[in-house]
Amino acid sequence: MSDEHDAPRPPSQSYGAASSLQRIRPVADMEKIVSLCKRRGFIFQASEIYGGLNGAWDYGPLGVELKRNVKNYWWQVVVHERDDVVGMDGSILTHPAVLKASGHVEGFSDPMIDCRTCKAHLRADQLVEKKGVKQCPNCGGKDLTEVRQFNLMFETHVGAAADEGSIAYLRPETAQSIFVQFKNILEVSRKKLPFGIAQIGKAFRNEINPRNFTFRSREFEQMELEYFCRPEQGMELLEYWKEERLKFYENIGIPRDRLHVRTVPDDERAFYSKGTYDIEYDFPFGRQELEGVAYRTDYDLSQHQKASGKSLEYFDEETKQRFVPHVVEPSAGVDRTVLALICEAYSEDQAPDEKGKMETRVVLHFHPRIAPIKCGIFPLLKNNTQLVTKAKEIVDLLRPHMFVFYDESGAIGRRYRRQDEIGTPFGVTVDFETLGEKDASLRDTVTLRDRDSMKQQRVAIKDLRAILRERIA
Ligand code: ATP
Repeated sequence: MSDEHDAPRPPSQSYGAASSLQRIRPVADMEKIVSLCKRRGFIFQASEIYGGLNGAWDYGPLGVELKRNVKNYWWQVVVHERDDVVGMDGSILTHPAVLKASGHVEGFSDPMIDCRTCKAHLRADQLVEKKGVKQCPNCGGKDLTEVRQFNLMFETHVGAAADEGSIAYLRPETAQSIFVQFKNILEVSRKKLPFGIAQIGKAFRNEINPRNFTFRSREFEQMELEYFCRPEQGMELLEYWKEERLKFYENIGIPRDRLHVRTVPDDERAFYSKGTYDIEYDFPFGRQELEGVAYRTDYDLSQHQKASGKSLEYFDEETKQRFVPHVVEPSAGVDRTVLALICEAYSEDQAPDEKGKMETRVVLHFHPRIAPIKCGIFPLLKNNTQLVTKAKEIVDLLRPHMFVFYDESGAIGRRYRRQDEIGTPFGVTVDFETLGEKDASLRDTVTLRDRDSMKQQRVAIKDLRAILRERIA
């Protein structure tokens, strides 16, 4: 099909890490990002009409799409595209024995300090030090309490009796249900080592100071893989999974140069871990952890075996050996990934308005793979039945294959801007040429607009589905 305005370009070169636009990364402004998230329906403060619940967030119509796309892509590459990983979905309510065995009841705590002046509760590492004296970061007060350990788990009661025997916990990570179900899953899946069990789900931590928007929340989602192996494979698999996980972030549009691998030093690492990497991202508020990749040895399975009295050993039919498998764990946060994607995608540039005057355009440059809406569909005029009918036919054509959005209200330039601002990578406009009014050879063609370059290409309606599917894959 003829290309009126733009030279066709290979889609894989146009987005994310390899953006041909070379856009200058704005000095990302969290206030603008938070405001856009609210204004366009990505993320709202939980219980907002009652003043908000600190550390909890609700995802709106666009946020939930973005989040699902991230989780689906993770599931696709970690579970569906592999022979050696199966999935599970465990309960959030957790038996206290599980978290006693894992060490969470005793040790899952942060050191906490209170400021007696402004009554702030602070994580000990948040204090500022001036001339060798520790101070409250809020009010500068020096009258601070001693450090005490604050357990981050949410405790609840199961059943009618609120006594010691009815305590349960909201899980602080998804991993423990994987360890506890290891034997069942091994039996039903009949996998041989090395193999993994993956899970995506909510986790809860009573963080002392939730902050940086969704970055540190009290309720969040994790995408965790426990990849079981023989002891001698552990270190090699740690490297393998670190690389796989870096590829994942690049494939959803976070360039490699904004990802950093931090080797967690011996004194910060859990005593049972033989190696841990943090994958970090340059957030506007600093370089922070997106994901941890840890070689946890046989610690978790051994602990549960000891505490439950049930064997969690693996029997190797070839060597006739019985042993507790080791595990490598890539553990990623859904909310932190979503936040990184929004921060990475946000930009402002200059674009002409209806009258050709330059104006500021806010764009989310999401990779098409994770963009909430893949394509906007616009009849040039809303009061022309033929244009509207054609546009709705295109909606029906594309809808089974991707999430599209129909918009007929306002000037076409405004409609493009609205989609740019929420990161919709493509726009299809049905105009009079589509109806074949000016040139019969253009009948049943539409313009396909590219969000990033703003260039338009004329394509046949019959080719639209294939073109778009290839670009969003
Ligand atoms: P941090 O040091 O930032 O508290 P962590 O090392 O305790 O994180 P892990 O226990 O390794 O985190 O959890 C794995 C992943 O779960 C983290 O890399 C992060 O993406 C996510 N995560 C952990 N705590 C939170 C939280 N409070 N809010 C949002 N995501 C979180």
